[in-house]
Amino acid sequence: MEIIGDFHTHTIYSSGFLIKGMHAKSTIEENVKSAYEKGLRTIVISEHGPSHYLYGVRKKNLKQIRDEVNRLNEIYSKKGLTVLMGLESNIIGLNGQIDVDENIIDMLDILLMGFHYGSTPKSIGEGVNLYFKSQISKISGCKLDEITDMITQSYISAIRNYPVDIITHPGAKVKLDILKLAKEAEKRDVALEINSRHGNLNLEDLKLLRNTNVKFYINSDAHKAEEVGDFKLGMETFLSSGLNKKRVINAI
Ligand SMILES: [Zn+2]
Ligand SMILES: [Zn+2]
Repeated sequence: MEIIGDFHTHTIYSSGFLIKGMHAKSTIEENVKSAYEKGLRTIVISEHGPSHYLYGVRKKNLKQIRDEVNRLNEIYSKKGLTVLMGLESNIIGLNGQIDVDENIIDMLDILLMGFHYGSTPKSIGEGVNLYFKSQISKISGCKLDEITDMITQSYISAIRNYPVDIITHPGAKVKLDILKLAKEAEKRDVALEINSRHGNLNLEDLKLLRNTNVKFYINSDAHKAEEVGDFKLGMETFLSSGLNKKRVINAI
């Protein structure tokens, strides 16, 4: 089994109000070059969504990113590497709102979505619900079911309301009902990520999904060029699960 595309990589544009390069280290061109050298056929540049004040892309930079992706795709597609623009949007509300609007979605080739602490919630009330309660769900042992259900439902609403292609690292930062989410994702042709940086989905999750047909991507979530195409953890996890490799969209 070989992974031939990395659909989740960050560059210096994932910097929020910080100086470029403080969160993710490399330029778009450096990520693309690394993907080419590693023999990949697809690379997606997927910055953090704009609501994340530490890591998020600045809206004013989106056009620049689009132009740079187009420029590099022009050069590298002739050599067998397709360069795409994605975005790792953030869930910002319990009704499944995410931090990109139609105008931004129209600029993208692919839409990713995940949960990250530190993105500005849509309202204080929702912020408290989504962020505070989900935080509690990680540290306390009681009444988790209700909170997990609520968060899972917000993911489900998000994939019903937006053209999400990939849910990034499900369960990494917040507990989810993976099976329930996977069933809805399968219906809507949304893939779940096996993220090699965070280790989610994990082996336990994959075993739970044996009787579904939900599809996966194994991605690096690279934050520097050297990490592009590093699928080690994701591959190991997937191979241990015994699932059919045909379920991994970016594998041959
Ligand atoms: Zn992420
Ligand atoms: Zn990421």
